[in-house]
Amino acid sequence: MYPSQFEHVPVDSVDDAVAALQEYEDAELLAGGQSLVPLQKTRFASPDYLVDITGIEELQYVDDAGDAVEVGALASHTQIQRAQPVKDHVYLFSECIGQIADWPVRNQGTFGGTVAEADPSGDYLPVLQILDPEITLVGPDGERTVPFEEFYLGMFTVDMEEGELITRARLPKLTPSSDAAGIGSTYKKHAERSGDYALASVAAIVEVDDAGDVTDARLSVGGVGPLTRPEEAESLVEGTDLDDDVLAEAAAAVREAVLPDEEGPEGDYKEAMAGEFTERALETAYERATESI
Ligand SMILES: Cc1cc2nc3c(=O)[nH]c(=O)nc-3n(C[C@H](O)[C@H](O)[C@H](O)COP(=O)(O)OP(=O)(O)OC[C@H]3O[C@@H](n4cnc5c(N)ncnc54)[C@H](O)[C@@H]3O)c2cc1C
Repeated sequence: MYPSQFEHVPVDSVDDAVAALQEYEDAELLAGGQSLVPLQKTRFASPDYLVDITGIEELQYVDDAGDAVEVGALASHTQIQRAQPVKDHVYLFSECIGQIADWPVRNQGTFGGTVAEADPSGDYLPVLQILDPEITLVGPDGERTVPFEEFYLGMFTVDMEEGELITRARLPKLTPSSDAAGIGSTYKKHAERSGDYALASVAAIVEVDDAGDVTDARLSVGGVGPLTRPEEAESLVEGTDLDDDVLAEAAAAVREAVLPDEEGPEGDYKEAMAGEFTERALETAYERATESI
């Protein structure tokens, strides 16, 4: 099917984008188009105006910003995945992006569009939940910055006012905190075929002391009902050296915590995969954390 008729409104600055969103009623921003265009083709979205922000060069960057890596809203998945500051300091995010769809989607899809979309099966969400970056938005009332924890409200829902656009995020660099000797992280995704949306996914960050005991663990599970932060599992692994019994207990706690949308065998399968991928993610993050001690 073809999209319904719309007027194309190209803009080349953030100010012009905000002005266009105020001027045109029933307008949508167009970034990579990887979610919006399929929705238009199926007529689930039929905006009268498309405010095309792809030409805003000031939003197309990934920079080292001291204790954080700053990502412009129009940085593509590929640009972020390949950016040296991301590889060096937030490798977890680079690893996650490598598992999104395929090259055409990763070359077109942008950070801002993906975060605005907040698709519960998307790969960004678990990673962003445990990194908790600051998200900056600009709208008719100026600029505001909110932690991801407050920005993300639930499935397909974020704290974005009428007329606002996301401009950037600050991803905290993963460095060991003062009481830790090492830090490791990973993103593990289970999908039916390579490039599919996740059936279950787990992001993990583990910090260890110089004896190899876990001082801090952060976990997030995506794709299995609502995005889940399994705090019980995090507490279970803290203070341990993550032996097989602890891994099994953490997996059981995750299976308890997730709430799959599906009932019956499909839900049971997703629950089981959330547990299995928690074990795999914790093992890899722990190996990476203890590499240097
Ligand atoms: C075939 C296919 C497979 C995919 N597989 C995966 C996958 O495996 N994992 C995964 O995580 N994702 C997957 N995706 C989704 C894709 O990564 C994201 O949908 C896409 O990147 C959204 O970003 P975009 O830049 O294309 O946004 P667009 O489609 O342009 O916009 C999406 C929405 O965000 C709004 N928006 C865009 N930019 C901004 C901004 N700066 N501020 C505020 N609102 C904004 C738009 O108005 C629109 O409502 C897949 C997509 C396709 C087409």
